Amino acid sequence: MADVVSSPAPEWPFLAVRRGVPLGLALLAVIGALLNNAWQGWFLLLLVGCLAEVWPTFTRGNTYLRNRRAIVRWDGLWTYVFRPLARFLGHEETWILSFCAWNNRRVQEVFKTRPARNALILLPHCIQLARCKADIFEDLKNCYECGLCPVGDTFEAGLQNRWNVRISNRSHKAYREAREFQPDLIVAVSCADRLLKGLTKLAEVPCFVLPLQLPHGMCVDTTYSVPNLIAAMETLVERKPSEDSKVQPLQCEGIA
Ligand code: SF4
Repeated sequence: MADVVSSPAPEWPFLAVRRGVPLGLALLAVIGALLNNAWQGWFLLLLVGCLAEVWPTFTRGNTYLRNRRAIVRWDGLWTYVFRPLARFLGHEETWILSFCAWNNRRVQEVFKTRPARNALILLPHCIQLARCKADIFEDLKNCYECGLCPVGDTFEAGLQNRWNVRISNRSHKAYREAREFQPDLIVAVSCADRLLKGLTKLAEVPCFVLPLQLPHGMCVDTTYSVPNLIAAMETLVERKPSEDSKVQPLQCEGIA
């Protein structure tokens, strides 16, 4: 299935490890069982364990959704375990985003054919230009849509499509709001580290993630691809009927 938005990173590094390690061990277990009769039982036990370990990566559709919490937490654990090695090799962000890309693929496989009806967009506060005085945390309508940061375009797209959008300056507030809202899909924008944390903390809710770009470093004047957000929402979320097109202001969370 073609991706609805450009992938944040190739998914193959994560898949190569997530599937390659248990399948490699399974192959060694088969060879060991064939060559060593005395240890055959142990090798067969290892084989079963390896196959059980790799099986969740092949689940799709309803099976994936039903088991998503366990699947994402387990995949997240693999990501955390191999993160130091990726950091040592200088590819930490690519490694995390590879996990995110794999998550995105599975989420879009589900929602491309069965769009979400109650989606929630989560954005970080740092996308607002640091020197901007517009009080978007009071009301996003206060944005002047000057085009200097992604808030204006997001606001416009949100109004037009009646999307539910939250801007938050703290991860735990975003998780709390998301749980209260009870969405059937979250589309979240954040840095790689927070995306990994969010995916594993809110593993029970299908979440499509988009990475932040950090041209000025962490948490200052960050940006992201609004066209990618729009593409994801238009593909994965049910359009609201035009007769209900009462325009509502976006909601946001006040900055501490
Ligand atoms: S688009 Fe302009 S007015 Fe709106 S938040 Fe960004 S910098 Fe401020």
